[in-house]
Amino acid sequence: MTVHWTDLMIILTGLFYIKCVTFVLLRGISSLPFTRHTMFRLSTRVLAARGYHLSLRSSCIRSCIGTSYHHSSSSGHTTQEDVLRIGKFVLGSLLAMGTSYYIFQYREPRLIPARLETGATTTIHATSGELEELSPAHLQRRGSDELSSAGGAGDITDVFGSSSFSTPTYGSPEDVQKAIEELRDALPGKNRVQTSPDSLRVHGSSDHSYHPSCPHSVVVMAYSTDDVVKVVNISRKYKVPIIALGGATSIEGHFTGFPSGSICLDLSAMNSILEINETDGDLRCQPGAKWEDINNTLKDRGIPLFFPLDPGPGATIGGMIGTGCSGTNAVRYGTAKAEWFLNITVVLPSGKVIKTRRRARKSSAGFDTTKLFIGAEGTLGIVTEATLRLAPRVPTKVAMAQFPDVEKAVSAVQQILNTPHGPHIQCVELLDDHMMAAINTAGLVDAPYPVQDTLFFKIQGSPESIRDTSNVVQEIVQRHGSTRFEFAATEEEAGEMWENRKYALFSTLATQPGSKVWTTDVCVPVSRLPQLVYETKEDLAKAGLKSTIVGHVGDGNFHALILFKDEEELRSVGEAVHRLVHRAIQMDGTCTGEHGVGVGKTEYLVEELGEDTVELMKTIKNAIDPLNLFNPGKLYPENNKDKMT
Ligand SMILES: Cc1cc2nc3c(=O)[nH]c(=O)nc-3n(C[C@H](O)[C@H](O)[C@H](O)COP(=O)(O)OP(=O)(O)OC[C@H]3O[C@@H](n4cnc5c(N)ncnc54)[C@H](O)[C@@H]3O)c2cc1C
Repeated sequence: MTVHWTDLMIILTGLFYIKCVTFVLLRGISSLPFTRHTMFRLSTRVLAARGYHLSLRSSCIRSCIGTSYHHSSSSGHTTQEDVLRIGKFVLGSLLAMGTSYYIFQYREPRLIPARLETGATTTIHATSGELEELSPAHLQRRGSDELSSAGGAGDITDVFGSSSFSTPTYGSPEDVQKAIEELRDALPGKNRVQTSPDSLRVHGSSDHSYHPSCPHSVVVMAYSTDDVVKVVNISRKYKVPIIALGGATSIEGHFTGFPSGSICLDLSAMNSILEINETDGDLRCQPGAKWEDINNTLKDRGIPLFFPLDPGPGATIGGMIGTGCSGTNAVRYGTAKAEWFLNITVVLPSGKVIKTRRRARKSSAGFDTTKLFIGAEGTLGIVTEATLRLAPRVPTKVAMAQFPDVEKAVSAVQQILNTPHGPHIQCVELLDDHMMAAINTAGLVDAPYPVQDTLFFKIQGSPESIRDTSNVVQEIVQRHGSTRFEFAATEEEAGEMWENRKYALFSTLATQPGSKVWTTDVCVPVSRLPQLVYETKEDLAKAGLKSTIVGHVGDGNFHALILFKDEEELRSVGEAVHRLVHRAIQMDGTCTGEHGVGVGKTEYLVEELGEDTVELMKTIKNAIDPLNLFNPGKLYPENNKDKMT
């Protein structure tokens, strides 16, 4: 059998159709991205007009291969008539593609990809990891026609007058493809630009989040501020959203991909400590540096300082700024919104690089632009460097006290914190009876803990202050019905006790092998915490859900870790979380004490903050990122209909 060059052309054209047909068969005609959809319809029509019936029912490849096979088998070579026929076929296809390309070029700014138009977009299923359809209420598109046409670098038009989001146009699948090609050119090197399905999925979803997720189109590894600028400029040129990623420990779907295509900017390799100024008590590092590595480095170098923000194991400075994190130390040192970040270097959506401050400990030169980026979840800028304020490392002692109930435990904490010894309390953590049982089950301790509501204390200071504070703590907890109070005997035991608290999530998972756990986080004025915990436990029990509770009780912040096995239980967990958040807001609290908003908590912002405050946030976002390219679909609620009642 001889294969003629024209056969190859038929096959190539046929492959294009096969791609379209597969798309349609898998996801329906409306799921075809706009250009391919239009090209497919147009070229089919053009071909039909020329006497070729290459529709969905008679797949092109079959007829093409059939034709070429027929000719080669019957006569051994292609006849003149065939060449003419094939020529018409190819010409027809090229004509159709050209027409649709022309239409696409000129009409694109007012069109949206068909996938978004129909509201059906592909996502990864929470429990099974399979693909599912997702409504746009979860992953929203925003901006305005005026804003989308504003386009270029720093090109901001009338944003202060129009404070709500409308609809910008994101790049088409072809634009995404062009952006990927340009990224490859701009960042040469092995694995700098990744498009393997595994990498896209892993970077776009989290084992800690059960909100709908979506893979990215491309993952890019950044090594410098310059790299980030290049990626941001390409993202803007092709209007492809860009999502920063650090340690990937955030919980509310913060770094999931965007349905029309997105660039995941992985900053985890930018993890160097650049400078330590021991005398000034500060440190300069890249955004991918992990808080634990920073503290280990300081310890290993014999520097008696540490960085007190302690969120999840593996979290990075960039992500911690992104979520406005805190952790167990917040009761003594406050949160990321205190002044632990002295200065940050940020790449803005315009591609400009700014520093928010100098290294001085304090400054009243204008308002605090550093704060603008803390808790902004990568929606306003990408942090590429940070100067951290450090605190003196102080000797600590760890103690544990058991209580008959949460109410007694919480009132003991309030009283302790209000004594003159309060500042010596570095951490107070509440673990409910279920959590204590989970730690025992996970086999993390040699001798099982009593299964009761328990407080873990870290008391800090000189040996005398620790002794005096411990006496006061012991006296107060006993007055509040504590049945048992004990110190860790050795430093090793103290370390273990604290580790157990940090690994609450993994202990909870161990109680029910094969289950998954949804972690949620709310915060209320401390005095309201017992009521909230009590009502929540009752509610979860009524819903037949198993859970553990851990709380940074000194701040009124607590996490419910709720287990589920299947879709039905997952739905029920989602409803319970909604009731819990609602309860917290009604107690003058917040939908998130430290994990941030991401995808999961956007619907509560208006209820919590009020419409005008949310409008102000949107106005700032519009001003800085008029094309809404930085982490779209996160943090900002779309409009009032998202407000839960
Ligand atoms: C077991 C466990 C325990 C946890 N305990 C706590 C806790 O006690 N306290 C607490 O606050 N949180 C806790 N968390 C949540 C999590 O650790 C924090 O939210 C943390 O701050 C996220 O950091 P990350 O580097 O993993 O960020 P990522 O998950 O990578 O990103 C978080 C957000 O920041 C953005 N971002 C990342 N890098 C940058 C950058 N360079 N510039 C701009 N934006 C960026 C991302 O786009 C995303 O929106 C816990 C999580 C787990 C799994």
